[in-house]
Amino acid sequence: MAHAGIPVRYDPLDVEPSALADVIRDFAAEETGGNVTIPHKESAFVLCDRVTEVAQAVRAVNTFWVEDGVLVGTNTDVGGFDTAVHDLLAREHSSSRRVAVIGAGGSAAAVLAAVSTWNCADVAVWSRSHQRALDLAQRFDAVRAELDLAAAVHEADLVVNATPIGMHDDGIPVPISFLSPGAALFDLVYRNDETEWVRSARSAGHAACDGLGMLIEQGALAFRCWFGIEPDRSVMWEAATRR
Ligand code: NAP
Repeated sequence: MAHAGIPVRYDPLDVEPSALADVIRDFAAEETGGNVTIPHKESAFVLCDRVTEVAQAVRAVNTFWVEDGVLVGTNTDVGGFDTAVHDLLAREHSSSRRVAVIGAGGSAAAVLAAVSTWNCADVAVWSRSHQRALDLAQRFDAVRAELDLAAAVHEADLVVNATPIGMHDDGIPVPISFLSPGAALFDLVYRNDETEWVRSARSAGHAACDGLGMLIEQGALAFRCWFGIEPDRSVMWEAATRR
């Protein structure tokens, strides 16, 4: 925002769930906008006056602003994932693609909302809570919940980690030995260095990336919602990777 010469502040606020409605109402009264993150995305979806189609698919809002006096919410994780994964795959999303998504929380819903528009050959979701995977899968056409992790990933040519595994430790969501040789890996987790999953996948010859590109792309989409212009992504990358 500073680089674009836009005189606004973007500050982190630690908000208790019980205070979210008041905080968002205050933002709306000042005709301003913002982002929300875990655990507020589902509540923000309910609090907005109008939500975009993409937010409806995810049932969660991570970006809000005021338009003609109306509080509008959208979900930029979907487009952020779509753009970042497109960079990883370096080709169009083919209709023969087979995708496995690990995790059944909010970000898995955003991934499935994106993947559902690709017309894939197969989309499987696996979660340690199978009921959660079943509940999520039934919200999307042609997505199946898989009970067995190895079976979920063994034929997939794209495997997505939508759990926090690897965020604070060197845990990996899926053993590399479970993957098919040509599979690409997309880890939603981002941290100061690459995750162990991405590192070990790369050294085994897989194309792999962490969630930093998605973070930047979802931020770029939010920026466009608020200000109507494209941000300079090179400035965003520089800021996000500054030590
Ligand atoms: P969430 O709604 O809490 O869902 C987390 C999912 O991971 C649930 O299915 C949960 O299973 C599962 N899980 C948690 N710990 C696990 C473990 N130790 N082993 C196996 N499964 C586990 O969280 P979320 O919003 O989807 O976020 C997930 C991750 O994505 C976070 O690390 C977040 O930072 C990242 N993220 C990145 C971006 C980006 O821009 N790169 C955007 C959004 C999210 P249970 O239901 O059984 O607990």
